[in-house]
Amino acid sequence: MSEFKSDIEIARGANKKPIIEIGAKLGIPSEHLLPYGHDKAKVSAEYIRQVKSKSDGKLILVTAINPTPAGEGKTTTTVGLGDGLNRIGKKAMICIREASLGPNFGIKGGAAGGGYAQVVPMEDMNLHFTGDFHAITTAHNLLSALIDNHIYWGNELGIDTRRVTWRRVMDMNDRALREIVCSLGGAANGFPREAGFDITVASEVMAILCLATDLADLEKRLGDIIVGYRRDKTPVFARDLKADGAMAVLLKDAMQPNLVQTLENNPAFVHGGPFANIAHGCNSVVATTTALKIADFVVTEAGFGADLGAEKFFDIKCRKAGLKPAAAVIVATVRALKMNGGVKKEDLGTENVEAVVKGCANLGRHIENVKQFGVPAVVAINHFHSDTEAEIQAVKDFVATMGEEAILCRHWAEGSAGIEELAHKVVQLSESGASQFAPLYGDDMGLFDKIETVVKRIYRGSEAVADKSVRAQLHQWEEQGYGHLPVCMAKTQYSFSTDPNLRGAPTGHVVPIREVRLSAGAGFVVAICGEIMTMPGLPKSPSSERIFLNEQGHIEGLF
Ligand code: ADP
Ligand code: MG
Repeated sequence: MSEFKSDIEIARGANKKPIIEIGAKLGIPSEHLLPYGHDKAKVSAEYIRQVKSKSDGKLILVTAINPTPAGEGKTTTTVGLGDGLNRIGKKAMICIREASLGPNFGIKGGAAGGGYAQVVPMEDMNLHFTGDFHAITTAHNLLSALIDNHIYWGNELGIDTRRVTWRRVMDMNDRALREIVCSLGGAANGFPREAGFDITVASEVMAILCLATDLADLEKRLGDIIVGYRRDKTPVFARDLKADGAMAVLLKDAMQPNLVQTLENNPAFVHGGPFANIAHGCNSVVATTTALKIADFVVTEAGFGADLGAEKFFDIKCRKAGLKPAAAVIVATVRALKMNGGVKKEDLGTENVEAVVKGCANLGRHIENVKQFGVPAVVAINHFHSDTEAEIQAVKDFVATMGEEAILCRHWAEGSAGIEELAHKVVQLSESGASQFAPLYGDDMGLFDKIETVVKRIYRGSEAVADKSVRAQLHQWEEQGYGHLPVCMAKTQYSFSTDPNLRGAPTGHVVPIREVRLSAGAGFVVAICGEIMTMPGLPKSPSSERIFLNEQGHIEGLF
């Protein structure tokens, strides 16, 4: 038996309050909470409209160093900081992503935080929750069905069946569906063509739901989706298939943010969950903008390390939604710094100050990068049981040489009591007025130049390279009026380079842009650097083999 309780054991012991009470803390009248059971509720679209004219609270981003298998704990720190701010008397809430259901049955851990810094009910949140992902799956697949139906009934729009870019989705890791042939079985079933499935979180509908400001904007963006091309390469839109209205109907409820609570009964919005590679990887704009109206401090998380997550949060979400983050917290762990300093996972238990110091190069790069956006930053050292005094001191000393502060946080083990110092620092930073947020590049820069700007200034590569066909494609989109869009980089999260094994702070590497994709409804151009998987598979021994209901009917083995 481990001396520590598992996340699910802690979560099961939570002293939850009725969700109506949590809403009342934020001043949300009960008639504007649409309960799903007793511990989850959606906030009505009507209430969201009502609070629009209020002034905004302070937005705090939680981001991290490059992830390693040693774990960093961004969500855990987001939840802990939200609780910490409440503890020191601030009206604070958190905003995080919903979890993808499929990966739970593979190898992934939960998405609700960990230890004594969790959002509950964590089992629901990691499974069906309030059905948002099912709605997104259904809306996406309605469009897929309409495409093949249109082709079946004579293809008036002249869709080139070899150039249908809209695939199908489901929320399950199923590699068998990555590439399929659909419409087999004879004339009554349509025209056979190659197709395939992605996981729901990779759907453009997910990215759209997370960037849309209201239902009208949602419907417009759904109409803007490009489903494929004609033989003359002109795009065919979802609007051309008259799909946008019905898709918006399916997403009406899913657009409303979900209110839940932390273990310490503080409010949390858990809403939307786009992939962090081919999409922007953060919770919905509606959740964040609404939270800013009803709380004084809003703590939110961006997926992956700061090179991808924070960059996209700033350059895509904040740019599009007009958000102005007041401060950023960069999460680092001694263990992950050691791995960045070359230590193998098996050897993480042994003190190694030298490796910590070496790995700090990665942290230092992220600090510099966040500051390039004009956002003041503080480092949170997410304390692990195995960390030594000397290792922790080495991180603090390094960060001090950069003129910044690193604060030890024990929220995983102690809840809000372990993160008060960081909470005070975040209040001070965000109230100092030091933030001068600006995106990295202007809208009017050329698409390839935008890619190269990220490569040079954030990844510190020497150049971005791309085949003529990729550059020609970008030019064509510029001519078609998409040149103002931001770029969404899809790169490995493990390194500043495209080589996942190159940890630390590499410089001078070349970043090849293998492919570009236009997400015209979401409003960004995806630049794919390396292999990106949009339908994961399951491992040889998937965790589903160990998940079951116990005699009390409780879920075992999920985390
Ligand atoms: P991220 O959001 O960066 O992916 P999470 O916050 O979800 O990371 O944490 C990943 C896992 O690591 C969770 O299972 C969590 O319980 C665990 N974890 C996080 N912080 C700690 C810590 N300080 N000590 C031990 N385990 C931790
Ligand atoms: Mg997370």
